[in-house]
Amino acid sequence: MNKKPFIFVTKYWRIIALILVLILFFVVTAVFMIDARKADVTPRQTDCVVLIDAGHGGVDGGVTGITSGVKESDLNLLYSAELAEKFETAGFYAVMTRSDKSGLYGLATRGFKMRDMLKRVEIMEESNPQIVVSIHMNKFRSTARKGAQVFYQKGDEESKKLADCIQAALNALTGKNYSALSGDFFICRNSECPSVIVECGFLSNKEEEMLLQQDEYRGEIVNSIFEGIMLYLYRYG
Ligand SMILES: [Zn+2]
Repeated sequence: MNKKPFIFVTKYWRIIALILVLILFFVVTAVFMIDARKADVTPRQTDCVVLIDAGHGGVDGGVTGITSGVKESDLNLLYSAELAEKFETAGFYAVMTRSDKSGLYGLATRGFKMRDMLKRVEIMEESNPQIVVSIHMNKFRSTARKGAQVFYQKGDEESKKLADCIQAALNALTGKNYSALSGDFFICRNSECPSVIVECGFLSNKEEEMLLQQDEYRGEIVNSIFEGIMLYLYRYG
């Protein structure tokens, strides 16, 4: 019996097997690499958390439209959701205090408004944001008053800088020359980071009431708020 060919065949199959194992290794590695790339399609650009607070909700509808009766709470939610999406797309972490029409007070019994506000502050504290923006719609006794108005906590210089940046971006859109205004606001008073209230427009003005309900105008307002915040982060962040 000649054993030589047998040895040759065994060696030959060993080489084949080794090549197959190597090919398998490369294929598996390639698949894992593709999967890893897929999972990382939208990597976070920053650790920055932006807290977006849609004002009111549930039984607290806020102000209502002068002609359509649209609820401020519903518009606030639409604007907040679009702003949150914009920040998420840009690689930020966006946290919303509410993402549906309900309030944050539990049962609408006595003291619900305070419970609602305290819950917002609790969410704010838990998410440890770098920026807080609370979205609202305005109302004024003079129905002629129009335009977006930004507020900040009186005496809070860092929040004033943020408010000024957002106000400038909104003025460029609305053609107004409003200055950011100071006041005393529960959310801002309890915030550790720069925080503002953005009143996107007046539901007491017929023209603006209609405009504020249009998708295109909402997109423009949201864009301006986003640009204002980006300007603040670029200058002072
Ligand atoms: Zn409001």
